Amino acid sequence: MAQFRFNALKEVLNRQPVEFVREDNLVSDYFGMLVFDQTKMKKYLSREAYKSVVDAIENGTTVDRKMADQVAQGMKAWAIENGATHYTHWFHPLTDGTAEKHDAFIVNGADGGVIESFSGKLLAQQEPDASSFPSGGIRQTFEARGYTAWDPTSPAFISETTLTIPTIFISYTGEALDFKTPLLRALGTVDKAATAVCQYFDKNVTHVQANLGWEQEYFLIDEALYMARPDLVLTGRTLMGHASSKDQQLDDHYFSSIPTRVNRFMQDVENEAYKLGIPIKTRHNEVAPNQFEVAPIFEEANLSNDHNQLMMDIMQKIARRHKFRILFHEKPFSGINGSGKHNNWSLSTNTGVNLYSPGKNPKTNLQFLTFVVNTLKAVYDNQDLLRASILNASNSHRLGANEAPPSILSVFLGTEVSKMLDLMEEAVVDRKMTPDEKTALKLNIGRIPEIILDNTDRNRTSPFAFTGNRFEFRAVGSSANNASALIVLNTVVANQLINFKKAVDKLIEEGVKKDEAIFQTLKSLIIDSKPIRFNGDGYSTDWVDEATKRGLTNITNVPDSLASYLRPESIALFNSMGVFNESELHGRVEVEYEKFVMKIQIEARVLGDLAINHIVPTAVEYQTMLLENVKNLKDVFSDDEFDSLAGARKELIKEIGEHISAIKALRKEVIEARKVANVVEDVKEKARSYDTKVKPFLDEIRYHVDKLELIVDNEKWPLPKYRELLFVR
Ligand code: ADP
Ligand code: MG
Repeated sequence: MAQFRFNALKEVLNRQPVEFVREDNLVSDYFGMLVFDQTKMKKYLSREAYKSVVDAIENGTTVDRKMADQVAQGMKAWAIENGATHYTHWFHPLTDGTAEKHDAFIVNGADGGVIESFSGKLLAQQEPDASSFPSGGIRQTFEARGYTAWDPTSPAFISETTLTIPTIFISYTGEALDFKTPLLRALGTVDKAATAVCQYFDKNVTHVQANLGWEQEYFLIDEALYMARPDLVLTGRTLMGHASSKDQQLDDHYFSSIPTRVNRFMQDVENEAYKLGIPIKTRHNEVAPNQFEVAPIFEEANLSNDHNQLMMDIMQKIARRHKFRILFHEKPFSGINGSGKHNNWSLSTNTGVNLYSPGKNPKTNLQFLTFVVNTLKAVYDNQDLLRASILNASNSHRLGANEAPPSILSVFLGTEVSKMLDLMEEAVVDRKMTPDEKTALKLNIGRIPEIILDNTDRNRTSPFAFTGNRFEFRAVGSSANNASALIVLNTVVANQLINFKKAVDKLIEEGVKKDEAIFQTLKSLIIDSKPIRFNGDGYSTDWVDEATKRGLTNITNVPDSLASYLRPESIALFNSMGVFNESELHGRVEVEYEKFVMKIQIEARVLGDLAINHIVPTAVEYQTMLLENVKNLKDVFSDDEFDSLAGARKELIKEIGEHISAIKALRKEVIEARKVANVVEDVKEKARSYDTKVKPFLDEIRYHVDKLELIVDNEKWPLPKYRELLFVR
């Protein structure tokens, strides 16, 4: 059995960096060449059709059928010129990953042959036979119709030979079955709410967009070694494996010179990304051995998230070309850092102002403070929803593991912004402010840009950190669809901005002047949201105690965390913001519970199989060898000599025997635990049963396997070890 491991190692020794050719010398010359962007639209569409799409992108209007027909013609012409033979509606179902079903452009021609055709109808809407996607009961299989509908805000592109059209995926009754539909709704809501608040400061603001800049972490593992690890192949993480004597203790991987094989892979990925208009900017080695990161320049959130999903797909494909496999799992290796996906998030206006960037005068700075403070309050009030949006089976291994944000939500503002909020709290008085008091406060507010530019202190332990011109939600998992987090974040901020505006307007109605009404409302928000502000070490145990004292929540298990979505106030919130109706929310949470159960079920099965069919036989074989040896010693030596020579070996034989017995017994128990959990009807209770009754066995069985790995002859060990997986590149 160990042959597979050693063959793999041999194969790895002969690896060479793979050559590839960049599209062109200058990236700017070919950036977006496979995207039907506005420049190409201008060329391929009538002015009327072009205007209609741009209007849809900028103002959310719909493209009517006649215009859609024209757009489809233009798209088809461009796509065919660029080698496309097929088209597909590309969407983000509630699985991990994207979905596509390709159709050829050909239709029957008049004379028995075929011709290429594409229509507005096909561009705008399709009905894939997509009955197997999870819907959480929204869509029964007898009513399986699901529709995909064109999202003009994310441009079509060519992938291989297929014109790929980003779409939403909804049920026959109009309910969201995907990530994109609610994301677009949440982005629309925050646009409206933020625009209304901006009106206090600048009447020219008519549109606010949310931005996303993701930072994607991943591992690269040599393909041959990967294939020799069924746990990696089937679950994306190692379910067993003793720690390597050396891993990340020396911090010698972080930001170190990028290995050539990996560098080629990165360049190859970037080349594809540039063709697809994905503005990749940064690449580097991460903390754990064989861990890396890629990040683009930020873009509008929906587009940026499409690009992240597309990147993950491209990276998986190109990794194979370089004889690697890529791991997006949040915790593929126990004992070393896992992978996250920081979501850098901000709001900006049609007038070109970043609302999280301090401005040039007291007025724009007050606007900046308004958005910072409202975001604080939104995070404070919705800690549980934000956590629910990112905590799942795989990310639960990473959160709170002293290398990643804890499961307690808090906001890092940095000392200077914190001081500013304290000052505001003090300076704003409950009575009418005197002109002098106001001037003093405005002067202080005016100082913000200097202090922030000089003092962007960093805190890597905060789950939600202000980083100078944006917030960074760091708890998002590396395998996640960012939409899950962005839906909640944008919804709760929108809701808070609406409440803020109501409060300010009420004061204005009562005769308070606008700037004072804003000051007063901000002051009360600053006071209310104080417990969520934390600039210290989020990984320390002191913080857990402190957070408890502050009344912050600390939910560490997935089933309880997910339940926050279904509290009456959450249902009311999503409903009033037009992001999820009650049935959509129930459906979505049910899907998440099911995913959680399935993932643990699969892991338990894989581990059971590996332990019983790979590890136990290996251990027995080694034990038999030792037994033979002991018998032989007995034949050769006197009783006294034998006792001193064979004592340790006999102990070892016993130790192996004990681990084998333990594995076998635990494996029986975990099967029983699964049987009990599987018949639980209620999906939440079932998830809870898997979490508390099945999941603990994964660690218990692993403990014995890892002990055996230390004992058994290296020559016999069947699975590539951590040191091999992590240090071969
Ligand atoms: P790090 O956080 O590791 O220092 P960078 O400074 O490179 O990394 O930034 C990470 C991401 O933040 C990039 O995708 C970058 O484009 C994005 N970013 C920068 N400014 C903003 C902003 N105003 N809004 C959203 N994302 C932003
Ligand atoms: Mg960052």
